Amino acid sequence: MKLPSALQDALNAQIKNELQAHYNYLGMSAHFEQTAYLGFAKWMRLQSQEEYGHAMKLYDYLRERNATIELQTIDAPKTSYDCGPVEIFEITLKQEQGVTQQINDLYELALNQKDYATLQFLTWFLQEQVEEENTVSDIIDRLRLASDNTAGLLRLDDEAGRRAAQGGGRAKA
Ligand code: MG
Repeated sequence: MKLPSALQDALNAQIKNELQAHYNYLGMSAHFEQTAYLGFAKWMRLQSQEEYGHAMKLYDYLRERNATIELQTIDAPKTSYDCGPVEIFEITLKQEQGVTQQINDLYELALNQKDYATLQFLTWFLQEQVEEENTVSDIIDRLRLASDNTAGLLRLDDEAGRRAAQGGGRAKA
């Protein structure tokens, strides 16, 4: 069954969105590399890799549906922030909430187009977004608790770095 063109366009746009997230996280990782928070640098780098994986999942889906793949321009990300880890993770949460909205919109479009294969495909992304938002919220809660306590912050940084290294593909911290 041919992929409806509106859905093809939206899936191509989502490849771009995921690659933008990939690039934004890489920028955050580059920022943390210049600080004492090397654990957060690692975490962001792993997160960046995950986003690349999301883009490729969409890319492969379009390929399997014999659809046209369009690669769009992404913006240069910030690689330096004038704020601490908690504010950066708050930006991360906003970004993930934005992606959740994009996936919800895609799901609604697939529903309207009665493209049931795409609906099925998108359920993985819906679940992934629940996990992403939850993981980042947990980190923010703990960073807020540590507040200005250097020992506490470095401990959270260390944990983020170690869990990212264990990975298994999931960027938990
Ligand atoms: Mg993603």
